[in-house]
Amino acid sequence: MKKSYEKPFIKKIQVGLMNKFGAAYGRHIRSEIDGVPVAELTARYGSPVFVFSERRLRDRYQSIHQAFASRYPNVNFSWSYKTNYLDAVCAILHQEGEGAEVVSELEYQKARRLGVPGSEIIYNGPYKTMDSLKTAVQEGATINIDHFDEIYDLEEVAKGLERQVKVGIRLNMDTGISPQWTRFGFNLESGQALDAVKRLVSGKRLILNGIHCHIGTFILDPQAYSRAITKMVEFSYQVEDAFGLKMEYLDIGGGLPSENRLKGIYLSPDVAIPPMDDYAEAICNTLLSKLRPNDFPTLILESGRTMVDEAGFLITTTHASKRLPDDSRAYVIDAGVNALFTAFWYNFRVELEKDIPGPHEPCTLFGPLCMNIDVVADQVILPPLPRGTRLIFSPVGAYNVTQWMQFIRSRPAIVLINNEGFPEIIREAEGLEDLIQRERLPKHLKLS
Ligand SMILES: *Cc1c(COP(=O)(O)O)cnc(C)c1O
Repeated sequence: MKKSYEKPFIKKIQVGLMNKFGAAYGRHIRSEIDGVPVAELTARYGSPVFVFSERRLRDRYQSIHQAFASRYPNVNFSWSYKTNYLDAVCAILHQEGEGAEVVSELEYQKARRLGVPGSEIIYNGPYKTMDSLKTAVQEGATINIDHFDEIYDLEEVAKGLERQVKVGIRLNMDTGISPQWTRFGFNLESGQALDAVKRLVSGKRLILNGIHCHIGTFILDPQAYSRAITKMVEFSYQVEDAFGLKMEYLDIGGGLPSENRLKGIYLSPDVAIPPMDDYAEAICNTLLSKLRPNDFPTLILESGRTMVDEAGFLITTTHASKRLPDDSRAYVIDAGVNALFTAFWYNFRVELEKDIPGPHEPCTLFGPLCMNIDVVADQVILPPLPRGTRLIFSPVGAYNVTQWMQFIRSRPAIVLINNEGFPEIIREAEGLEDLIQRERLPKHLKLS
């Protein structure tokens, strides 16, 4: 085989040294996922391919559940569908005991179709259609109201059903997190939240029985939850004392970080991200210290990225290598930001299927899209990679297989490695058929 020519160059390379931001991710080799060789996975399912680990997902659920359930007597987990609503992933978490947390009619329907009873669904979000509100009320879902117009909608539903309806409201508040998420729910500090309660009470059709709050995502400060819980408890007693309404649940939302590396945070995840026990401690201890004696409202956690991120991998393959004009090394790989949406926020762990000799240098990994923004990773320290080298990205279990799109290329297959260590396909790779099946070409435009 002809050797490819490459212009000689001299470059000072620093690998593995500490800089002021800490050490780079070490070199990683990953030849298998849960005992299944990467080579076998790509031989059977192609490349790129998403791989989820049932064992990791169950272990993660059990350890997070344990962290909270061991500290507070009345804990309920609801799985955030938008984080990953693959049937197989949802079913695993439902089997473990999670309810469903949905933020649209579509997600509501998907949970119902999977077999989740309405009574185990929490319906959140700023856009709930009238039809879906009606269904959710009839099926006994927990509904957290986002704005005044939704109060009016739900009053109409209650009127139509000629009965009162239990509801929760979503609050937003200052917990020291910036930027503050103020676009969802009723603001606490401005008095808007109390106004909403007064409006609910005067309408007489809706009975407030819960408080919801989701302060943001990838929250790195456990004390922010402590502040949120403090304010939620104070507000719930304020409402109880003023209107005689008892809050049956306090829903603290999601936002717990995964062990991913956020862009702009240079410490490695094991240093930058507090352990789950710190969050459980902050939430449960505050709750226990603020609640009145013998009052244990249900603590609801709407787990999202923290639950599923580490259970997901993406196997990719290098297609070409390039030298850029600044002499830096780049590779074209077969998965881009169309498949790996979270590449915009995360510096993933990048692992090689096998050890490759040669000088390491910082590389950019471009996706296959003909788009300048298609950069999956940069500044990854890698040896010279031959064409066809397998790279494994992780953690990629959260927000990718919901936010991905068939832009330029179609979406890859998804495989689950089950608890027995066997791979099973849980979503087939898409192709041209999936792209065109909903298109209609007007007659006069048909090419002869
Ligand atoms: C997205 C979302 C979650 C899950 O968020 P994570 O940051 O992934 O934990 C929980 N609750 C609500 C209301 C959400 O919108």
